[in-house]
This record gives sequence, structure tokens and C-alpha cells, in this order.
Amino acid sequence: MVAAWRDACAVRRRLAGGAPALEHRRVNRVLAASVGLHAACLATVLAAPRRWRPALAAVAVNQAVLTGAGLWPRSRLLGPNLTRLPAATPGIVLSFDDGPDPEVTPRVLDLLDDAGATASFFCIGQRARAFPALVRDIARRGHSVENHTDHHYRHFAALGLPGLRREVRQAQAVLADLAGRPPRWFRAPMGLRNPLLQTVLDEAGLGLASWTRRALDGARSCHAEAALRRLATGLAAGDVLLLHDGNCAHDADGVPAVLEILPPLLQRMRALGLSGVSLEMALPVHPATGSRSAAAAAPADAAAGRSRRGAGASR
Ligand SMILES: [Zn+2]
Repeated sequence: MVAAWRDACAVRRRLAGGAPALEHRRVNRVLAASVGLHAACLATVLAAPRRWRPALAAVAVNQAVLTGAGLWPRSRLLGPNLTRLPAATPGIVLSFDDGPDPEVTPRVLDLLDDAGATASFFCIGQRARAFPALVRDIARRGHSVENHTDHHYRHFAALGLPGLRREVRQAQAVLADLAGRPPRWFRAPMGLRNPLLQTVLDEAGLGLASWTRRALDGARSCHAEAALRRLATGLAAGDVLLLHDGNCAHDADGVPAVLEILPPLLQRMRALGLSGVSLEMALPVHPATGSRSAAAAAPADAAAGRSRRGAGASR
């Protein structure tokens, strides 16, 4: 724990020196408080061994709080976490996890093209290496490619610093190479993380993004109608919606859930006058460096470019 805190401080000093925009980044104060609490408990036990019970209880509560925060995907207790766009941001971010998938991703791209919508794809590094043309196609059609770890381990939240770094950096490298620009946002598998992740994201220049609502279309028991209801209830500008183009459920006829959910969802958005935008277009300022994105500077131009590229892209 002490080593992790020292590491976090080193990262903060390095970032503050090299990237002025990060000077105001909130350091993991929770981690600092936890280190302090552990030290105080240790000091208490050394000074008064009979008081080991309350000291141990304090440490146990602290660990339970940290674990609970990591298991709550939309929590901000462990660091900044994007759950919706800032107020007054027009549009909705449609985000697709766990791809690319050779069966589903091209069809999702076609549906987005037909609707004139742009989206963000949180890709898995291993899948990107298996289907590099798909990642290039996602980027070529104007969508943003973001980081969803290298292997999408179920035990991702249990990894230490070396494992977290490996998962984030390897995915970042392959996705940057294929998409032509490094991902700006990271989403943890199932949204589960631990207090060390923020340090790794700071090092990689990534912001953490979760969601406003999710379809839960990765669950085997997913029903498209229920998933659509989950996403569309209270649909409003600024929402970040999570669907899956990889590891998605299929109905009894073998149709991927996302292909049943997306058309009526896009229709609902159109009826409400809400456009689909990528994170890069919706949030011009880089979450880590503070630099502005060219795609975000002129969303209308980017959308037009996407349509042109989409028309010429291989499907
Ligand atoms: Zn995932």
C-alpha cells in the first residue's frame, strides 16, 4: 500500500512537470487517507498492543470501502470517472464494448452510417490484433477507438500494478497503431477496478469512462426489448450508453442482441432530436493532457467526413 502511494506521488510529480493541464488533476486522496489510516493503526498497535482489535477493525472497514468502490462501476471514490457528458453537451454517446467482432462490428458500423451517427468503440487489444482491418475501419468511418484492456480478464480488478500496466499499455499500443491515434478513454472490464488503476491511467494519459445506463446485452439472459427499455428510459442529451459489439448475447434465432436494440434506439434518438456522437467529438479537451481534438473542433465536418468515408469503406 505504501509503495503504491509512493508510486502515485511520483506519477503526479512527473505529470505536473510534463503536462501543465494535469496540475489540477485530483490525486487519489482516498489512497492517501488509506495509507495514513494503516500507519495510524500500526502505530496504535505498537504503542498499545491491547488495542489491536479496534485497529484491525478500522483497517478492515477501510479495505471494505475501497473494495466496494472498485466494485461499483460508476463510483468516483477512486478517481475521476465519466458517467455522462457535461451539462449542455448536445448528443448522446453510444459506446460499444468488447469488439471488434467480425460478425457484429461491421453491421453495427453500417447501422450507424445509415443513421448518420458517430460512436465510441472500447476495443480489446487481443481482438484488435486478431481483426486489425476492423479497427482501421472503425477509425476510418469517423468513430473513436478507446481502450478496454488487452485481454479483458475477469480478474482485472484483482491485478497489481505490473498486471494493470501490462493490460493498459499493450492495448494502448496496438489500438493507437491501428486507429492512427492513441485512445483517450479507458473502460475496465465490467467496470470493475481497484485503487491502483488511477495511477496506471495517469501514466498512460487516459481518462476513465463508465456509463449513464447500460443495455446488459452481454448477459446470456438478455432480452432485446428489456435492454432497449433500460437504455431509452429517460433518454436525454449527455447520456453515455453502453452496448456490446463483442461478447454480445444472441436471441433464439441467433441474432446478436445489439442488432435488435440499435435500430429502434437510433430511431428513438432521432425522434427526440438527439444525435449520436463519439467521446472525442463530445469532449474536445483530452481527459489527461488538456489538448483539443481536431475531430471535436468541427463535429459537423467530422460527421460529413465519416459519411463520405463510410460510403467508400469496405463493409
Ligand atoms: Zn467488456
